[in-house]
Amino acid sequence: MKVDFYRHQLTEKHGQAMAAVVASPFLTTGKIARGVEEQLCGYFDVPHAALVNSWTNGAVAMLLALDIGPGDEVIVPAATFIATANVVELVGATPVFADVDPGTLLMESTHVRERLSARTRAVIPVHLYGQMCDIASLRGMLDTEAENNVSIIEDCAHCFEGSFNNERPGQHSDAAIFSFYATKNITCGEGGAIILRNTTLHEKLLQSRLHGMSAIAVDRFRGGHYNHWDMERLGTKANLPDLLAALLPDQIAEIESRLPERHQLARRYNDAFAGGPLRLVEPRAGCRNAHHLYTIGVPKGQRDEAIAALNAAEIGVTVNYRAVTEMTYYHERYPQASSACPVSVKWGTETLSLPLFPGLQQVEQDHVIRIVEEKIYPLIAT
Ligand SMILES: *Cc1c(COP(=O)(O)O)cnc(C)c1O
Repeated sequence: MKVDFYRHQLTEKHGQAMAAVVASPFLTTGKIARGVEEQLCGYFDVPHAALVNSWTNGAVAMLLALDIGPGDEVIVPAATFIATANVVELVGATPVFADVDPGTLLMESTHVRERLSARTRAVIPVHLYGQMCDIASLRGMLDTEAENNVSIIEDCAHCFEGSFNNERPGQHSDAAIFSFYATKNITCGEGGAIILRNTTLHEKLLQSRLHGMSAIAVDRFRGGHYNHWDMERLGTKANLPDLLAALLPDQIAEIESRLPERHQLARRYNDAFAGGPLRLVEPRAGCRNAHHLYTIGVPKGQRDEAIAALNAAEIGVTVNYRAVTEMTYYHERYPQASSACPVSVKWGTETLSLPLFPGLQQVEQDHVIRIVEEKIYPLIAT
């Protein structure tokens, strides 16, 4: 039986929403995007939201809005997708890699504290797999221990609908950034969003999101005539067109009702693997897990054999993630970084992700579980 790693849930109605934009004169960022931003402000209870065309471009725009660049350091976990570190490199700043908790794989205040320096300007904690880091504690630690003002940018690519101590992302950070990439819990193919509370920073972000221009396209033609614009700061091109934004309103409205299915699927895997030889991610107390990914650890370095066995059984798998510090680019630039992040490096050699998405059928999941027990368990035992 073939089991996909992921299947999206976009349907006819999403296609119709997109077709309505095609039938209108205005294709790029306009009133549909504005509507989604308002929807996000309501969902997250924050005053500002800005849609972007990817997490990556949004994060670059955010770093530009914070005036972070050459000479500045930004602390990121080594256990994450490369984009978290890449955006720091892209603005000319220096990523400083911190390790993560061996149970939850989350970067906490204790890991960040060890990497603080006089040049630290920001921290990008990653809510890995859907569990949230403790941002309130991180804020408190930075306020007492950091020499300068250090911004917190939450990487929420895995955590739209998660919470910690009943608080969603965005409450204790300077900004929280989401991804609507093809496989994420909410998707428009490529896209993302930034939520934030500070009005001045939001205004700067609106500029850095669009070349640094002082007015977005709809405003340039406001009043039925052309209005001159200026450029006050350097920006990138990170706005999301209405064409793609049209896919989002229904998904945001339905995300809460989808979460129980993710929880149920994760619970079935957990129950099946309990007491077995796999390393499982520890649940973090107080977290409502968004369960973006279900990852397992195959100890004894037999991970790649396990992937081959799953592939042979036509089961889609991915690796999330080999440590960023182990990538050739980072290894060459920061050769000491891996030795400072042993937990991330080890997990990166052990981990693989199994199919988990709303719509995964029970027979499909049973097949995955059976193959894991029959093919992967013996690899670990020997
Ligand atoms: C997907 C992902 C990103 C990048 O998102 P894009 O929208 O593809 O730029 C960043 N961080 C993490 C943890 C991710 O999983």
